[in-house]
Amino acid sequence: MNDPVNNYETTRRPVRLLVVEDSEEDTELILRMLRKEFDLSYKRVEDERALRAALSSQNWDAVISDHNLPHLDSFTALGLVRQADFDVPVIILSSSIGEELAVTAMQQGAQDYVLKNKMSRLVPAIKRELKEAENRRAHRAAEEAIRHLAFHDPLTGLPNRNKFTNILDDIIDSSREDGTTHALLYLDLDQFRLINDVCGHTAGDQYLLTVTEYLNSVLDAEDVISKMGGDAFAILLYKKTLSEAEKLANEIRASIKDIVHVCHNQVFRISASIGVVPVQCDKASSAELISAADVACYTAKDNGRDQVVVASATKNEPQRHRDEMVWTSRIRDALANDKFVLAVQRIVALDSTRTDCWEYLLRLPGDNGELILPAQFLPAAERYNLIAQIDRWVVDNVIKHLSTVDDPRTSIRFINISSTSLMDDEFCNFVYDTVGSSSAAPYRLCFEITENAAIRRIEQVMTFINETKSLGCKFALDDFGSGMCSLAYLRTLPADFIKIDISFISRILDSPVDHSIVAAIQRISQLANMITVAEGVERQDIFDRLRSMNIDYAQGYLIGNPDPVRC
Ligand code: C2E
Ligand code: CA
Ligand code: CA
Repeated sequence: MNDPVNNYETTRRPVRLLVVEDSEEDTELILRMLRKEFDLSYKRVEDERALRAALSSQNWDAVISDHNLPHLDSFTALGLVRQADFDVPVIILSSSIGEELAVTAMQQGAQDYVLKNKMSRLVPAIKRELKEAENRRAHRAAEEAIRHLAFHDPLTGLPNRNKFTNILDDIIDSSREDGTTHALLYLDLDQFRLINDVCGHTAGDQYLLTVTEYLNSVLDAEDVISKMGGDAFAILLYKKTLSEAEKLANEIRASIKDIVHVCHNQVFRISASIGVVPVQCDKASSAELISAADVACYTAKDNGRDQVVVASATKNEPQRHRDEMVWTSRIRDALANDKFVLAVQRIVALDSTRTDCWEYLLRLPGDNGELILPAQFLPAAERYNLIAQIDRWVVDNVIKHLSTVDDPRTSIRFINISSTSLMDDEFCNFVYDTVGSSSAAPYRLCFEITENAAIRRIEQVMTFINETKSLGCKFALDDFGSGMCSLAYLRTLPADFIKIDISFISRILDSPVDHSIVAAIQRISQLANMITVAEGVERQDIFDRLRSMNIDYAQGYLIGNPDPVRC
């Protein structure tokens, strides 16, 4: 009779049963009972050779083994089954089994034993054990997955930083013993986040998989690729000299740039910055080597990206860390004691109907009275969460300064805001409150956010723009053109001003490509009612050309240097 609990089951569960039994009669009896419940397929074996063959030929859902076989005892059978499959339930069947024997069977891994004169126990025992085995397998799979995740990147399946560090430790040890030299690359994709931000994470993931596939195809079997997080990879080049590694790194760099990724009708070509360090029989630990390669990669980025930098020429990590610590304490001191200084630079109108504007630029006074430029200290401020406090100081002091100057209402004052600050709600609310409570400020302020940063943090930037615009402020996209897919973004970002990056302006007379890019930006801006500003104008002939191209404003040393102001 069916188990009343399971009466609702309309299909019988398929079960692959292995019967270790010499008696055909007993086997028939077992099958008859089980067929009432299960959709059974089975095999009967009675000696060790046949059992081994059956176990290696396929997986089994359950094993029923007679205790007294002429050619095989049930404990040996049990051992063989367990070797082949740790989870499959084994039920010992016996005409008589003493309690002691039964206990031993269970201790050796049998799930249950059933006496032949109590065969009615067989079906419920099998049912229960199938369920238990399922649980055990699920549990083991979950454990396996967790173990895998602890050492692998979930997207690419590559070893993660933990596992890579272990591998590198072993390699360092063996290199100390046998003197072999290897190399370590640290590869970071430049502006990868653009794909994520513009096309979504699925497209970003797909791109990372393409890069992984490419790296796998170009490296040797002994080399190890690791995904270190985000868009960075570490690669151990096994038994390769530093010059071989540098050559290979350059090939990888060139090939990655050739990977074309198309989404949302836009073409992305991402470049890579790569740091290279030798792995030799020296005293460096795996962490120090990874960090040195990371610093070399960071230097490649600083030098303008899409480059390979070999570590020996770069500062080491502890040095960089110390430098940044010095900057953070100077920044904290400047914030606490109101030491920062603002400079203003004129932005001149190229057509007489417009009024000149000004950009505020931050300076940090040095020990000898010199003014330190933001490039020196802003990276440390970004990294150590001080940037929102700095931007807050700037907004506060610009508003103070505005009350002391007397210029036409149409003369806009530009303030740079780091997109990192926009992640800080307190900062945003401070800006809305401070600007909102000042009667003159909102109409005279224009917040500048670099194009790259705006794309990276599009949601926060949109909220900030909408809020400040509703107060009457303006918004400018800074360093325009230095990122990618900029033109498409003009549709989404309601910019009032487009500040064309210095890299185009400085080459406008020498490079037809740069000239036509500037002309295209000007045309599109005009159609979209946006005002153009050319940055970094240093020469009169460039200034004249910009005017003939109908660019609206020019800014640069030709017009005037940034001058410190008193707030
Ligand atoms: P930016 O916003 O693109 O500012 C223009 C930079 O170009 C300024 O550098 C300016 O001094 C420089 N510059 C002006 N005219 C010329 C020229 O004719 N030729 C060349 N080669 N450069 C010119 P600065 O002041 O060193 O600022 C560098 C960057 O630091 C700024 O780039 C901006 O991104 C950031 N920054 C400056 N002030 C602040 C601030 O108050 N807050 C934030 N978050 N960032 C700021
Ligand atoms: Ca700016
Ligand atoms: Ca700029």
